[in-house]
Amino acid sequence: MSQRVVLASNNAGKLAELRELLAPLGLNLVAQANLGIPEAEEPHPTFVENSLAKARHAARLSGLPAIADDSGLCVAALGGAPGVKSARFAGDDDRTTRDASNNARLIMRLQDKVNRRAWFYCSMVFLRHADDPQPLIGEGFWHGEIVTRPLGEHGFGYDPHFWLPELGCTAAQLDSATKNTLSHRAQATRQLIELLKNA
Ligand code: IMP
Repeated sequence: MSQRVVLASNNAGKLAELRELLAPLGLNLVAQANLGIPEAEEPHPTFVENSLAKARHAARLSGLPAIADDSGLCVAALGGAPGVKSARFAGDDDRTTRDASNNARLIMRLQDKVNRRAWFYCSMVFLRHADDPQPLIGEGFWHGEIVTRPLGEHGFGYDPHFWLPELGCTAAQLDSATKNTLSHRAQATRQLIELLKNA
């Protein structure tokens, strides 16, 4: 019999992708919304703390093991900002205009900066139960540079400004299959799966 695991996210794309990867391990992923669990607060200054807070919240309310992730963009010249504030860097609450506002703010903050180094980061955690003292933690880093001129139509968020020097394109110029093998989220997921296999 497979073990049910709650995913502390309501993103249908994430659920489908992770569900497929976890099925061979005998884990059956369920979205927290399907169990009536509301989204958790994300009050912490680090991604890893926020991912743990989300997983703990879902594990506590469901009584099941839980998986959660937290991700965002870190820019070297901005001391790691926008960081955990990536989704609301510009303070725009409207989901339809948020990406554009965030990107405008990012480019404005980098106007006089020569160092354009940046990376996407993802922390993906697994808790056996809400009070698990030893979570499994997968991490992913995706390194690039912030370019002023947006390029590409794919992806979301900061992708059009995230230049990948080795590939000679932005993340928004990659098709989703390619992005999904290279990204911070893909790397963190692979790492977590390895940890789960050996757990
Ligand atoms: P979340 O952890 O998936 O909610 O991501 C938080 C925020 O980080 C998003 O709203 C985006 O602004 C940014 N972000 C995370 N991953 C990506 C990505 O792959 N491309 C572009 N922006 C991203």
